[in-house]
Amino acid sequence: MNEFKNQREFKEEFKRRIIERYGRSIEQAHITEKYMILGEMVRDYASFHSKETKDVISDKGEKQMYYFSMEFLMGRLLTNNLMNLGIYDIVKEGLEDLGIDLNELEDLESDAGLGNGGLGRLAACFLDSLASLNLAGNGNCIRYEYGLFKQKIVNNEQVEVPDQWLSLGNVWEVRKPKHAVNVKFGGHVDMWMGEDGKAIVNHVPSLIVRAVPYDVPIVGYDTKVTNTLRLWSAEVADDACDAASLSEYVNEVREICRNVYPDDSTEHGKILRLKQQYFFVSAGLYNIIDSHLKNYPNLDNFAEKNAIQLNDTHPVLCIPELMRILMDEYKYEWDQAWDITTKTMAYTNHTVLSEALEKWPIQYVQDLLPRVYMIIEEIDRRFKYWVSHDMGRADLMNECCVLKDGQVHMANLAIIGSHSVNGVAALHTEILIKDVMKNFYDIYPAKFNNKTNGITHRRWLIYSNPQLTKLLERTIGPDFKKNPERLIDLMNYVDDPRLQKDFMEVKMERKKILAKYIKDTLGIEVDVNSIFDVQAKRLHAYKRQLLNVMNIIHLYFKMKSDPNFRIYPRTFIFAAKAAPSYTFAKEVIKLIHCVADKVNNDSDINPYMKVVFIPNYGVSIAEILMNAADVSEQISTAGKEASGTGNMKFMMNGALTLGTMDGANVEIVERVGYDNAEIFGLRADDVALIRHENSYNVWDKYNKNPDIQKIVNSFVDSTFSNDPKDFKQIYNELMFKNDEYLLLADFEAYAHAQRNIEEKYRDEAAWARACLINIAQSGFFSSDRTIKQYADEIWDIHPIKVK
Ligand SMILES: *Cc1c(COP(=O)(O)O)cnc(C)c1O
Repeated sequence: MNEFKNQREFKEEFKRRIIERYGRSIEQAHITEKYMILGEMVRDYASFHSKETKDVISDKGEKQMYYFSMEFLMGRLLTNNLMNLGIYDIVKEGLEDLGIDLNELEDLESDAGLGNGGLGRLAACFLDSLASLNLAGNGNCIRYEYGLFKQKIVNNEQVEVPDQWLSLGNVWEVRKPKHAVNVKFGGHVDMWMGEDGKAIVNHVPSLIVRAVPYDVPIVGYDTKVTNTLRLWSAEVADDACDAASLSEYVNEVREICRNVYPDDSTEHGKILRLKQQYFFVSAGLYNIIDSHLKNYPNLDNFAEKNAIQLNDTHPVLCIPELMRILMDEYKYEWDQAWDITTKTMAYTNHTVLSEALEKWPIQYVQDLLPRVYMIIEEIDRRFKYWVSHDMGRADLMNECCVLKDGQVHMANLAIIGSHSVNGVAALHTEILIKDVMKNFYDIYPAKFNNKTNGITHRRWLIYSNPQLTKLLERTIGPDFKKNPERLIDLMNYVDDPRLQKDFMEVKMERKKILAKYIKDTLGIEVDVNSIFDVQAKRLHAYKRQLLNVMNIIHLYFKMKSDPNFRIYPRTFIFAAKAAPSYTFAKEVIKLIHCVADKVNNDSDINPYMKVVFIPNYGVSIAEILMNAADVSEQISTAGKEASGTGNMKFMMNGALTLGTMDGANVEIVERVGYDNAEIFGLRADDVALIRHENSYNVWDKYNKNPDIQKIVNSFVDSTFSNDPKDFKQIYNELMFKNDEYLLLADFEAYAHAQRNIEEKYRDEAAWARACLINIAQSGFFSSDRTIKQYADEIWDIHPIKVK
């Protein structure tokens, strides 16, 4: 009896399992034991639905989608699963009867931090939307032993400590050894002619790793449809080496799934990262093929029954790997294998930063994956021939080919080997088409399309902000929970003074929750009546946290020198992890802390502003941070942020966007109007023009503006630190690399926009109205809308029915 239907059944089952597992009564059981048992009960509850979902898919021959991503930033799952299953209240009240506080159990769960930031969180939102929309779509990733590092701040600097997310075990996963497969690396390739005249290929590897899957059920909201996130773990294979080299072998295997690469923008970690990529790609593909062959006699209809979405270039080895399996193991000819492969694969581009476009030295790929490399060579050869002979565009050949300058260009391989290439916001897709991938657009115009990102409104609104949810339900009814586009109904009420006041009260409640967290963890008192101005995202030069800091320094200097100048009280809140090797980003974190020390301890100034850095930004912190914000800082250099999804979480919780015309900010403003956001700075085409004409000189900006001079000088005098080494790199990046991200170019516009925000905030009714308009217009940014578009326009999958 697992599918408990009421409180009584839940309590019986809970008590029984505690005794059965731990040989203790409820009273004697440790709190972590209670957490584990509850988690297992919820997981088993979902398992019934998983089975029914799988049965429907195979009985009806439904097509499935697999989202291949190196990252899934899932966060916690207990609350989410209880709510999606509709058993939250039964469980909460049942536990209460047993003297157990559900919230205490919820707090024991560690975030599954299997990713860096936006890209990984997008994958997690997509899984929630897929199941909730009754779509058969699964995740495929690596079971990292450690999540992204935990960030501590010691002496104002970031220190990375291992994130041991598995220390209590992971209650959501089920190990599936029966689905284990071997993944082969290195060695050499033998080829000979078979009796039928076809080539026989034999890869003799130097390393064999056993890939064992752990399945996590993905529970949809108000549906039985339950999908799977499959996480692959590397283990030693049987007879893969002799006893003498055992310990070396064990280390080599263990290393593969040890860490998430803590860098979301640059090529890194080299060979080990390439190993990780091939490891989860090859294992994932073998599994999909095996399950296909349980239902169908051969792979001829593989592309009709399976779609694979490649989340950025990290899983792009899927393309040559599927070719290899089809040809070497199932004896398909090149042309048919290529047809199946390209019809199966679709690629999402996530960045236009050139340093982030993945390239692998040919030597690495050749040594680690000799057979796959041969196939990449052949893909490249055929592509070049086709472009120059069949298309007559020899001019595009060298730009677009896969192998050049001794490197494998993964984005090029992705475009050539997929039927769909999408950007993640309208502006981003436009930049791909007109600039970064212009030549490819000439070759394959029909492949290119846009899918503006989204976020799951369940986690980011309904579950994390129950106060706002209740107010919305009272105002527009509960329809928006299932259909987030219904949030638009709120437009009918935005002028209602009563609602405006109620909204400000909800916001105040959320600010108090955040203020308490800040007090408890950092010991800093913040004024809940001040404007909560939040910039929370990975630390990166293009995201321009430094521009925000420059304005804070500017306001500080101005208030210090002019006792008559005072701002509306404001709390500047930052949260950001920096990649461990990214020294510039780490210096910015230190600068934020040094400025905070100065400002927060100055009694002339601290009634008007405080600076707070919340350490260890991750999903759980985002859940209390976003919904407490009045102002959402989205100030990247125009053209650099592909989409952003943080911007959408803030908007949905009633914050005003203070931002540049970049990424999805453009589409936010398109919906709320310029009056209900604060937009400033250079546009993407201005930036392009400046680059093209080479017309920007940072020293001109510096020389012309005494405020800017004073701020920039403070990085290298002893204003914020007595250590002369501090902030030198910040100064050098700005002044000796001609301010690559155009901070000084946008500074005056930004400072002006910040003054406008303050003016707007002073009119409480108008401010509340603007926030309500943001909420009303946020339905478009639900990932349900995004996923419907992917399902219809790329995957061709349709809702399934599980009774
Ligand atoms: C939403 C989210 C992000 C993405 O934020 P951007 O502002 O879009 O860069 C990164 N990390 C976490 C934990 C998130 O929840």
